[in-house]
Amino acid sequence: FGLLQRQDPELARVLLDELDRQRTGLQLVAGENFTSPAVLAAMGSTLTNKYAEGYPGRRYYGGCEVVDRAERMAVERARRLFGAEHANVQPHSGASANLAAYAALLQPGDTMLAMALPHGGHFTHGSKVNFSGRWFDVVSYGVRRDTETIDYDEVRDLALRHQPKLIVCGATAYPRLIDFSVFRGIADEVGAWLMADVAHTIGLMAGGAIPSAVPHADVVTFTTHKALRGPRGGAILCTDELAARIDRAVYPFVQGGPLMHVIAAKAVGFAEAMRPEFAEYARRVVVNARALTEALAAAGMRPVSGGTDTHLALVDLRPLDVSGAEAERRCAAAGITLNRNVIPYDPEPASVTSGIRVGTPCATTQGMGPEELREVGGLVAGAVCRPGEAREIRERIAALLAIHRPYLSEY
Ligand code: PLP
Repeated sequence: FGLLQRQDPELARVLLDELDRQRTGLQLVAGENFTSPAVLAAMGSTLTNKYAEGYPGRRYYGGCEVVDRAERMAVERARRLFGAEHANVQPHSGASANLAAYAALLQPGDTMLAMALPHGGHFTHGSKVNFSGRWFDVVSYGVRRDTETIDYDEVRDLALRHQPKLIVCGATAYPRLIDFSVFRGIADEVGAWLMADVAHTIGLMAGGAIPSAVPHADVVTFTTHKALRGPRGGAILCTDELAARIDRAVYPFVQGGPLMHVIAAKAVGFAEAMRPEFAEYARRVVVNARALTEALAAAGMRPVSGGTDTHLALVDLRPLDVSGAEAERRCAAAGITLNRNVIPYDPEPASVTSGIRVGTPCATTQGMGPEELREVGGLVAGAVCRPGEAREIRERIAALLAIHRPYLSEY
C-alpha cells in the first residue's frame, strides 16, 4: 500500500477513504460483508496477470499449470463445502452466473417461471430491464397478500398452466426460508428444470444455519461476496448430468478469460467457510437478524411477513409515515448505510418505496451479538424518526464501532 501511495496518491486516497467509510459507519446492507485479509491478499495478487481461457488441464493459453492449481482447489472446496456433484467457479458475478445457467438450460423464447422483482426476486429473474426479461417468456409468481410469504399454490398453478422449461427460486429481498422441496415437487410435476439462485443465503447454508438448496435443485447459482464472505464474484453448482452444459455456457458462451486472482480468493473463502467458526458466525447472523427485526418492530416499523428466518429483514415504514428513500437519506446522515426497498404490493415506485432492507452479515463479522443488534435497531429507528438527533446517533455508533471495528490494520 505504501508503494501505491507513493506512485498514485490520488487513487490511494480513495482506498483509504473507503476503508474509513467502512470502519466508521454502521454497515447494514444485507448483501455486503467484510472479507478476511487472506481473501483480500489473494485478490491483490499476481494471478490477475494470467490469461487462462478454458478449464484446468484444458486451457487455450500456455503457462496455466500454476493457476490450474488454484481453480482445482476452488472447485474441490466448493464441491466439498456444499456437497455438490459439480462446481464452476468462473462466473464474474451473480448476474453472469444466472446468464450462464439460463444459457445452459433454455433457448431464447422459452418459458421460465420466477419470483417477481417487486415481491423480492432479483432483476435477473425476468425483469424487462435485463436480458432475462428480454430473451425469455417470463411468468412471475409472488407472495401472498396476507402472509407475505411465497404463494406455493400460485407457483404450482402457474407451472401447470404455462409449462415452463425452467423454474427459478431464490430471492434478493425475502426474509423467510424457501421450501426447496416444494419447488422440486412442482418442477417434477411439469417436467421443468429447477434452478435456485441463493446468492443471499448461500453463506447461511454453508454454515448449516438454514437448509441447503443443493439437494433439491438441478442448478444452484450464487455470489461469493454476500453472507458467504468471499471475494466479489459468482459460482454455479450442478449435477454431473449438467456439468458439461454449464461449463460450456460460462466459457465460451458468456465469458472470456477467468479472473484467476478472484478464483484463488474464492478458494480461500470456501476454506474459511468450512471452519467451525464459520458455522458459529452463520448461526449468529440469523440470531442477530431476529434481534434487529424485533427492535425495529418495537420502534413501530412493520417487519414484512412478521419477522425473519435469515440474515435480513424487510420493514414497512408506512406506520411511521416515512418513505424508504427518506429513511435511507436520514440513516445516511446518521452514519448508517442501508437501502430503500420495495415491499410486496408497494404503492410507491422503486425510486421512493415504502420500505427498507437491513441485514446482519457485516455486524456479525464485526463481532456484534444480539444485544448490540437490539441497540442498532434503536439507532436505526432513532435516525428514521428523529432526524434532528443524527449527531448523537453518530456518536453512539462511533462508540459501538470502537469496540467492533473491521480491518484493524490498513490491509
Ligand atoms: N441473484 C441474487 C438473488 C442477488 O441478490 C444478486 C445481487 O444482489 C445477484 C443475483 C447478482 O449478483 P451480482 O451483483 O454479483 O451480479
